Amino acid sequence: MHIAENSNKSVVVLEQNTLTSGSTWHAAGLITTSGESEGMMKIKEYTRNVYKTFNEDNTSLVGWANTGSLMIARTPELWAQVLRAGFLLRQVKTIPYEIYHNIPPDLHPFLDMSQVLGALYLPDDGIVNPADVCLAVARRAREAGALILEHIEVTNFVRSSEGSIESVVVDREHEIECGHVVLACGQWTSQLARKHLSVHIPTAIVPHQYAIFDKISGVDNKLPVIRDYASRTYIKPEVGSFAVGTFEAPHCEMPPICKSRNDRDVPVPRDAANELYDNVPMEKQAGGLEAAMTLIPKLGEVGLKTCIHGPDTHSADHCPIVGFVGDAVPNLLVGTGFNSQGIQAGVGIGAVLSDLICDTVTIDEDFSSMDPRRFCPDISADATWCTERALEGYAETYGIHHPNVEVN
Ligand SMILES: Cc1cc2nc3c(=O)[nH]c(=O)nc-3n(C[C@H](O)[C@H](O)[C@H](O)COP(=O)(O)OP(=O)(O)OC[C@H]3O[C@@H](n4cnc5c(N)ncnc54)[C@H](O)[C@@H]3O)c2cc1C
Repeated sequence: MHIAENSNKSVVVLEQNTLTSGSTWHAAGLITTSGESEGMMKIKEYTRNVYKTFNEDNTSLVGWANTGSLMIARTPELWAQVLRAGFLLRQVKTIPYEIYHNIPPDLHPFLDMSQVLGALYLPDDGIVNPADVCLAVARRAREAGALILEHIEVTNFVRSSEGSIESVVVDREHEIECGHVVLACGQWTSQLARKHLSVHIPTAIVPHQYAIFDKISGVDNKLPVIRDYASRTYIKPEVGSFAVGTFEAPHCEMPPICKSRNDRDVPVPRDAANELYDNVPMEKQAGGLEAAMTLIPKLGEVGLKTCIHGPDTHSADHCPIVGFVGDAVPNLLVGTGFNSQGIQAGVGIGAVLSDLICDTVTIDEDFSSMDPRRFCPDISADATWCTERALEGYAETYGIHHPNVEVN
């Protein structure tokens, strides 16, 4: 979208199935601006502002609801984490927040406040429908001249003697000439880069899940999303009820299909579209569900409607992998390893990639922590290392992030 809008370059987007059919299809749609670095917070703020405009100018309804969010502390250690998150937000200056010792009771009438020591409240956070957001971005890109082709698979690359990609081979027979190539293919990115370009992108597939409860009278999209770091759980309003997701820790159980694909001898098939895993092992989410029912007692009175358990792409150091891959393929960029934040950061990351290609500045910040060249190539090629580190990062998503611990 940004390249098409901000430059006179021709943009072609190639999608092997249909837009949204990857991990985007089953994402929960949480949008927060809280983050571990100023760069990531600015990316998320930028993304959120774009999503809001989709709804405001009525061109594309993306389900944006300005719920706000509450990061609650139930232990003294987590209270320290709340204060630290507030301190980080103060650096960005433009993101409003409140720190509450006592949460105003009318902010979330379903929440049992007796267990809560305090909270960070972000009034501008919200929720979206991820697939609608993806289509709205595609629509804006098309309006700016981008060509978006579905059911076209990238199957190889033609290289120059210096290593640059001269053209992209699609469906094994046609070639499209190119200046730059961006691989933003979710869980397929690392296999494409490895198999055809001998470039190692250290990511692994990690399964994540959330459960949707039956309707509860009085619940609407005005209730803030709750993040309870004590149980590593989020509780989001979801069409008259709540969805409860858990970043269980540590060593979460992997479905066999996920384990085998991380071995790298078993590629992710093209038709893994709209893919969900068969069922969620109860031990994976039991702790989160129990905590949610304690925090919101009404949840204990209704049944579970459905569980969503799908693949997500995590990087080896819990920071996205965004930018040029290096001298071996000088005109290749990647955008992947979003660590459960691809919806809330997606448009901002698109802007960062566009700035790198077009030499423009949309978000003025240092994004070197996302540089793909930060990894040692040998270690990036080690599938076991990638899987173990990705699982560790996943488990730390809602862990206590002590200062100087390298979880971005
Ligand atoms: C259960 C769950 C809940 C989540 N909830 C949230 C949330 O609340 N908020 C949030 O921010 N994030 C959330 N996420 C994470 C989010 O879903 C991902 O970060 C995001 O969808 C990644 O988007 P992507 O475009 O990188 O990958 P994908 O959506 O997987 O898209 C990659 C696309 O590339 C295409 N492709 C691959 N190979 C080729 C090829 N060779 N040729 C052509 N096309 C190709 C694929 O078909 C696919 O459509 C959640 C994830 C899970 C699993």
